[in-house]
Amino acid sequence: AAKGAGGRRYEFFSASMQARLIERLQLENNLHKALELEEFELFYQPRVCTATGELRGVEALIRWRQPELGIVPPDKFIPLAEETGVIHAIGEWVLRTACRQNRMWQLAGYPELVMAVNFSARQFENPNLLQLFTSILNETGMAANLLEIEITEGFLMQDKQSAAEVLRKLEAMGVRISIDDFGTGYSSLSQLKDLPLHAVKIDRSFIQNIGWDETKSSIVSAVIQLAHGMGLRVVAEGVETSKEYEHLSSINCDELQGYYFSRPLPLFDMEQILRQQQPLLGGSLKEDLV
Ligand code: C2E
Ligand code: MG
Ligand code: MG
Ligand code: MG
Repeated sequence: AAKGAGGRRYEFFSASMQARLIERLQLENNLHKALELEEFELFYQPRVCTATGELRGVEALIRWRQPELGIVPPDKFIPLAEETGVIHAIGEWVLRTACRQNRMWQLAGYPELVMAVNFSARQFENPNLLQLFTSILNETGMAANLLEIEITEGFLMQDKQSAAEVLRKLEAMGVRISIDDFGTGYSSLSQLKDLPLHAVKIDRSFIQNIGWDETKSSIVSAVIQLAHGMGLRVVAEGVETSKEYEHLSSINCDELQGYYFSRPLPLFDMEQILRQQQPLLGGSLKEDLV
């Protein structure tokens, strides 16, 4: 049997692999525990109609309320959840919680709100995904046409055929589908034309300084025109200033989301906004940021 340099390299590799494996198993275990201990929480960020400033819907954004660390943002654990596969369990919890919440708001008599839920590409590996949607919609009583699934362009690059098939079935159930972070991937709108999409959400990086930055302004304006030509709605992400808001309004962006209107809010604060039922334009946050 060959010993020596090759064997040693193998041992070294194996030890670091093992350390990585143990670390992953611990993280996976922590994420499962967090689910059991109900440490995950959804925040809700308002999405408003550009023309009227009226609340149209919310995006559900997960947070991990960790006893020692405080509120952990999704960028700190979603990639790990995806890597380890815990995203399936977390994603199911998110979908169920978001649907249940939307239904509760409906029962409380608030105006109809679209609930947007983020989906990771890996969640589409689940062969029972459609059944999961059916049972969660039934169980919660949520109207399918108020549910919007946000997927990224990256998801479509992987296996476009089977992705398209699942999306078509979701569409047939009445669920809306939107492309998140549009502009950050490599797809063009024409590549998306065969998919049953409802909206595109233009990434925050294109929105920042729009109105001042002419290149950005003309790119976004062209995307909006193309999207409208394809029958898609356009949502701008990360609107932070009145200048950005005014410019987006002048180029017919349909809906807006961003700190200018509201940060993502914990349930209690979100419900306070729902009780007020007033347009979000000219809210108190405006003064802070402009
Ligand atoms: P995303 O879906 O693109 O969500 C928008 C992110 O931009 C959110 O970050 C939001 O807080 C932030 N944001 C909104 N308005 C503004 C603004 O005006 N300025 C700035 N600077 N940021 C703004 P968050 O909540 O940290 O979420 C980060 C990402 O984590 C999300 O990006 C999404 O990809 C992922 N994520 C969040 N919740 C879930 C979930 O339930 N499941 C999955 N699979 N992914 C999730
Ligand atoms: Mg999103
Ligand atoms: Mg986004
Ligand atoms: Mg994102």
